[in-house]
Amino acid sequence: MTDRETRHAELAKQYLPDELIERFRERAAVVDRENRFFDEDLVELRERGYLELFVPAEFGGPELSLHEVSRLQQRLAGAAPGTALGVNMHLMCTGVVAAMFARGDRSLAHVFEEAAAGEIFAFGISEPANDWVLQGSNTVAVRQLDGSYALTGTKIFTSLSPVWTRLITHGLDADAEGGPELVFGFVERSSPGITVSDHWDVLGMRASQSRATRLDGAVMRADRVARLIAPGRTPDLLTFAITSNFQLLVASVYAGVARRALDVAAAALHRRRSASRDASLAEVPEWRTRLADAHRKYLAVPAQIDAYARDFDELVDHGAGWPVRLVAARIAAGEAARRSAETALACTGGAGFDNGSEASRLFRDATAGLFHPPSTDASRPMFAAALLDQA
Ligand SMILES: Cc1cc2nc3c(=O)[nH]c(=O)nc-3n(C[C@H](O)[C@H](O)[C@H](O)COP(=O)(O)OP(=O)(O)OC[C@H]3O[C@@H](n4cnc5c(N)ncnc54)[C@H](O)[C@@H]3O)c2cc1C
Repeated sequence: MTDRETRHAELAKQYLPDELIERFRERAAVVDRENRFFDEDLVELRERGYLELFVPAEFGGPELSLHEVSRLQQRLAGAAPGTALGVNMHLMCTGVVAAMFARGDRSLAHVFEEAAAGEIFAFGISEPANDWVLQGSNTVAVRQLDGSYALTGTKIFTSLSPVWTRLITHGLDADAEGGPELVFGFVERSSPGITVSDHWDVLGMRASQSRATRLDGAVMRADRVARLIAPGRTPDLLTFAITSNFQLLVASVYAGVARRALDVAAAALHRRRSASRDASLAEVPEWRTRLADAHRKYLAVPAQIDAYARDFDELVDHGAGWPVRLVAARIAAGEAARRSAETALACTGGAGFDNGSEASRLFRDATAGLFHPPSTDASRPMFAAALLDQA
């Protein structure tokens, strides 16, 4: 093993040892069936310091890199996809600040202090009918005399909704002096004007409890405003750090789902027998071919995530080449998860179709990958323009 792989193995043992992974996997079935939040997993992750992975040594954390956290998240997602997707949002917020620190911007140090003190960060960016995502907002931000903002709008799919205490969010100040500005920053759960929907009954990733959040004049304190950015394609370190962490960590979750689905498929082929051929399905060529194809297509995905995460950690400057790489990795991971999960479902046969089977749950969890932004359709113009519209 290389030094790097030895380190990944040590981190896996430290943060997600085999017995913990088995416990999470057993619980994932129960939590999914009962459609509830992963409370017990969160307690155990917290005890192990999992919520502080990105926190630098100077703030008392282990200062893991994006590459290292990505590997851990793949492992966690292989056991409990909803837990991994939920905790991803907290990790991403801290990863964003770590990325800014690495690039010389220490302005959001309070996030590390608060994460080390036990606060849980969520990501409240998605809004109904806002396909600008980070580059626009339908949430109204009104500047107050003391420099704080009052935010009014709806954020959808806020993962960790039962437990978050800090929300990174954004809104549009249309009346700013120099022209409209997007306001990015943090609101606290205790602020008046925050209502979390009690509706959550979805196909997959049920444990993430990603409910809608209503902001009615919710306060973003002046000292929690992170950035004021012109709407549209305005380059900024904060939004670059969000995009990088978001795309690669979400990709990691779906890569983990894909990997687990292949293992579930292989175990099922060993278990099942064909009476007509008097053989285990693991010996039947058609079944071997089906699994082989899914495996081959999966293998490109972790390699792509590894490469981009390492480049990101090493501050490689891909410039305008970053968004295509990041989005390609996340879309490929989502596709691999859906393809592998379908393979697992086929390989487990009718028994896999039972709602209690892991293959069935993985299949449902994998479908959530269809909804993370940007979608394949939304990203096509970017991929085309990178080749066709360069000066
Ligand atoms: C499992 C999962 C977890 C996610 N976690 C996050 C996250 O933590 N943070 C984040 O920013 N994004 C998150 N996303 C959101 C995702 O990335 C997309 O932005 C979102 O799915 C885009 O949906 P849409 O525009 O197609 O939504 P739409 O079809 O417009 O709406 C999707 C759902 O949002 C709710 N909704 C829509 N309008 C309203 C309204 N006015 N009031 C109340 N509820 C409304 C409804 O339940 C609706 O079914 C998550 C998505 C999934 C599938």
